[in-house]
Amino acid sequence: MPPRIDFASQRLFIDQPLAEGAPLPLGREQANYLLNVLRMRAGDGLLVFNGRDGEWRAAVADADRKRATLTVGARTRPQPAASRIALAFAPLKHARMDYLVQKAVEMGAGRLIAVATQRTQVDIRNPDRIRANIIEAAEQCGVLAVPEFAPGARLDQLPRLFGADAAPEAMPPVILCDEMAEVADPRAALADLPAGRAIVVLVGPEGGFTDQERRMVLGWPGAVGISLGPRILRADTAAVAALAALQMAAGDWR
Ligand code: SAH
Repeated sequence: MPPRIDFASQRLFIDQPLAEGAPLPLGREQANYLLNVLRMRAGDGLLVFNGRDGEWRAAVADADRKRATLTVGARTRPQPAASRIALAFAPLKHARMDYLVQKAVEMGAGRLIAVATQRTQVDIRNPDRIRANIIEAAEQCGVLAVPEFAPGARLDQLPRLFGADAAPEAMPPVILCDEMAEVADPRAALADLPAGRAIVVLVGPEGGFTDQERRMVLGWPGAVGISLGPRILRADTAAVAALAALQMAAGDWR
């Protein structure tokens, strides 16, 4: 049995090495968050993680108005393997993009990839804002393997991000979310995915994919198009729905 997750304690991502007994001086921003937003005081307990060393108990050892130091206690969970699911999506406008990123982390995507498509109308201006969003979602939902974010690829370069230009067999199967696909039970396609390998869920821009893009993607080895029902979903909804279907058919909901 995996260790139980403590959902009652506050969880904080700290980009520093973690080991029992180590004092952790916090940077200004994090100290401010801990003391003034979370209103923690010396002696209060929380959980910390850094995306590499698992999750640890910690306590506020020392705090004044602007500075805080934590002491790291015992490890509560080991570092899990990263999720094999990557979500590739066309960038969306602000609020929908924030929603998509948060929900993708909650749903267990291990890697987020923004891809420009022919009908994409938005640029990624601030990847750090997206990374901050990812970390916040990971803190919130107990994800210890913090998903990485790759901005700035074109759709046709997606295979290259996985090294498939050098080794075609490295291309993970792509699940193309396609409102034009025949409406059929997506469970069969999803249940047939190879076990243990990376999988890419691909969601298009608000304007949808072009026919040329559909043909290109479906030509990649192992790619399948799935329908998410007889309604046109907003791209952010489609991402959540596809991840839920995938987790149910071939992921960690089973
Ligand atoms: N071309 C459409 C809208 C695209 S919706 C139009 O403007 O009429 C944005 C993205 O969400 C699509 O590219 C697709 O990836 C996904 N999507 C939306 N509805 C879907 C459905 N019913 N099945 C599968 N994917 C869907």
